[in-house]
Amino acid sequence: MTADAPALVWFRQDLRLADNPAFAAAAASKRPIACCYILDDETPGPWRLGGASRWWLHHSLTALTASLEKHGGRLILRRGAAAQVLPQLAAELGASAVYWNRCYEPYAVARDKALKEKLGAAGVEVKSFNGALLHEPWEIKNKTGEPFKVFTPFWRACVASGAARTPIAAPKRLEFAATASPSDALESWALRPSKPNWAKSFETEWRPGEDGARAALKAFLGKQLADYSEARNQLGVYGTSRLSPHLHFGEISPAQIAASIDPDAPGAGKFLSEIGWREFSHQLLFHWPNLPERNWKDQFDAFPWRDDEAGFRAWTRGETGYPVVDAAMRELWVTGYMHNRARMIAASFLIKHLLIDWRRGEAWFWDTLLDADLANNAASWQWVAGSGADASPYFRIFNPITQGQRYDADGAYVRRWLPDLAKLPNEYIHAPWTAPTDLLRTCGVKLGETYPHPIVDHAEARAGALAAFATI
Ligand code: FAD
Repeated sequence: MTADAPALVWFRQDLRLADNPAFAAAAASKRPIACCYILDDETPGPWRLGGASRWWLHHSLTALTASLEKHGGRLILRRGAAAQVLPQLAAELGASAVYWNRCYEPYAVARDKALKEKLGAAGVEVKSFNGALLHEPWEIKNKTGEPFKVFTPFWRACVASGAARTPIAAPKRLEFAATASPSDALESWALRPSKPNWAKSFETEWRPGEDGARAALKAFLGKQLADYSEARNQLGVYGTSRLSPHLHFGEISPAQIAASIDPDAPGAGKFLSEIGWREFSHQLLFHWPNLPERNWKDQFDAFPWRDDEAGFRAWTRGETGYPVVDAAMRELWVTGYMHNRARMIAASFLIKHLLIDWRRGEAWFWDTLLDADLANNAASWQWVAGSGADASPYFRIFNPITQGQRYDADGAYVRRWLPDLAKLPNEYIHAPWTAPTDLLRTCGVKLGETYPHPIVDHAEARAGALAAFATI
């Protein structure tokens, strides 16, 4: 290795230049910097990037490439199992160091550990950093030295620790390696859907990339934070930050978010505690790596899930006959996002009204959410199912009619996503089958034709769910 051997920065779920510890360390190492991203569809097994995530990744990598080029650098794109591709690239570049920010998915932890050994044995310095969380999952422990299993004491301990990561300053000096190492063309990865282009509508909803993330945070702090505690539950208003895909892809860090908020400002405590749920989910995944596949409470292993293809299909297509559930599933399809309250209602319907295994819903969300995140998705599905740590009790079964009436009282959410029901008065918008026949006719609704009849009866489904639960 020569004196000007580069430090290779391996970008993963940290697609930003600001507050990026690995990138900053490479700059501070006085070595020229080389940057890469590896599309690894092999290592994650069933958790390879889903369809919607791939669309986001395409745009986020485009933005990162442009930022690097603005500073005179480039992003080398490679595809394949990172355990092989990264050492090959490091050797090709003659790199003397490789830096990355840590990921917490079990397959990533195992892969990175093996990579550290392999690269180290080849005489390459390897350093990894925390760029994704306020606290490392192993830092916050309860009094007996165990990981927390309940959110409230976990978050209280995080706040009390006073040890949250704070953002680091952008590197002052950037010197990039003059490398002609080949890079895949991003287009050749075909991350965006084409025939059909089901992601067309995402383009007007989202602005992936570091600048887009910063703009989303600024807009949220300026307009929504003060009312967040109340508005976050209202389905029809944009009351939340919509930062989740930006956070998942690391276009912004929780440390940057926390540092831009006065913790005593109205709404701040509640908002920061939601970032806390993200931390909690990550520490659960880290300590219980089977979280995406196995019931956290093994009592649920005996649950009599139903095999109901027709029910599952109706749920995915937003054709259950329950407007708030169907609006949620259409919102997901059109925007790649779903409101948090709607996620809880839709997930509960699948698990408790249809008695379909939560893992099927988890997999559907994995493929269709732009913010699909192994920790948050798995922890949240298990929370709704009642099988998770600090979960909502199974017997608390969301009523999709009253949830709609409560969190979408003026029907704005249902009308936005189900225009066929738009003319129904508020009184009937969450239960169209209860409306008088002439009113349905005047409003242009033909149940069974323009909008489905409910696929299950709420009271019967509730009783069925409780009976199934009683068996375990
Ligand atoms: P805000 O309310 O503005 O919250 C700010 C940030 O805090 C979010 O961006 C997110 O990073 C974090 N956050 C908020 N709520 C939660 C939560 N309950 N658990 C963990 N982190 C949270 N979130 C994902 O990021 N990826 C997922 O794959 C995912 N799957 C979910 C599946 C189900 C069934 C449910 C009920 C929730 C899921 N969530 C997931 C959590 C939550 O719904 C989203 O994080 C939130 O709706 C994103 O919108 P926002 O950025 O406007 O959130």
